[in-house]
Amino acid sequence: MSNVQGRKRMGFKKTVLAIGLLLQCLAYANTSVAGAELPTASVAKYHAETGYYTFKLGTYEITVISDGTVPQDLHVLLKGAPQQTVDGLLNQVHLHNPVEASINVFLINTGNKLILVDTGAGDFFGKGFGGKFSERLNKLGVKLEDISDILITHIHTDHTGGLVHEGKAVFPNANIYVGKADIDFFLDAKNQNGVNGYDKAYFQQAQTAMQPYVALDHVKPLGGEQKILADFTAYPTPGHTPGHYYYRLESQGQSITFIGDSVHVEAVQFPHPDITITYDVDQPRAAKQRQAQFAQLAESSAMIAAPHLPYPGIGYINTQKSGFTFVRAEYHDRQGL
Ligand SMILES: [Zn+2]
Ligand SMILES: [Zn+2]
Repeated sequence: MSNVQGRKRMGFKKTVLAIGLLLQCLAYANTSVAGAELPTASVAKYHAETGYYTFKLGTYEITVISDGTVPQDLHVLLKGAPQQTVDGLLNQVHLHNPVEASINVFLINTGNKLILVDTGAGDFFGKGFGGKFSERLNKLGVKLEDISDILITHIHTDHTGGLVHEGKAVFPNANIYVGKADIDFFLDAKNQNGVNGYDKAYFQQAQTAMQPYVALDHVKPLGGEQKILADFTAYPTPGHTPGHYYYRLESQGQSITFIGDSVHVEAVQFPHPDITITYDVDQPRAAKQRQAQFAQLAESSAMIAAPHLPYPGIGYINTQKSGFTFVRAEYHDRQGL
């Protein structure tokens, strides 16, 4: 971390530092404690301005944009495990119920197109709970009309909510790729009053989020495995929802797989992939799907991108004696990404 130039300058730096400290002491001596101003406003400002992480994947540039975090009461939400088991797993990683879940949105720059994977919660969770994505996209200088394609992992409000604002399409020129089985399930008028006790709000919110794009004829339903948009492969992974899809992007021998809601709680569902969450439309199928897909992703050492793992949610899956573990991708922050 040091270089010759840095060592030579050390003496000068120390002198500057000493003068700085002396001036600071003098300044404090002239300020009463009650009059001292803490930099809380600027700290909050910096916090609001975080939420971007960019890296290269072959010829593509991927930016993970945080839509915010939301608290999750795992005692209520998780299924298939006693509360003590869940609390024990959380304690091992210094977490306590309720835990914060990230909502990560992925922006992919192909060089001539801007593509999204999911869109965050939009306005649906209320102010302060998700919905930061579109403003952050704006700050990047990306115009909403410049988004050409959106790959939806599944029609749940925290993934499709950002598609609309005040009933209008936020991305008027975008094609929306989404599993046909999710369209059939969530947009079916018969299901609007709820199915098998599944929260009916999902169906109403799905209708609100998707309808403007149905009206524009911009929805591209997916069935089976198919190649889309040059280097993407879309493949069905039903369970969490009937039309849940993974998207694998390959470029120059590298790949990343966007795995949607195959996992919500890192500390619990990697070691115990059998533990499900109340959001799963089909609990046993969601657990089986997670087990099968994670085994395959671990086997192939594939990089994954997950919306609800702690931001930015990029890494790898390893197998362990029983279950799996998540390994974060290396952090890069220098010129050239
Ligand atoms: Zn979901
Ligand atoms: Zn989700």
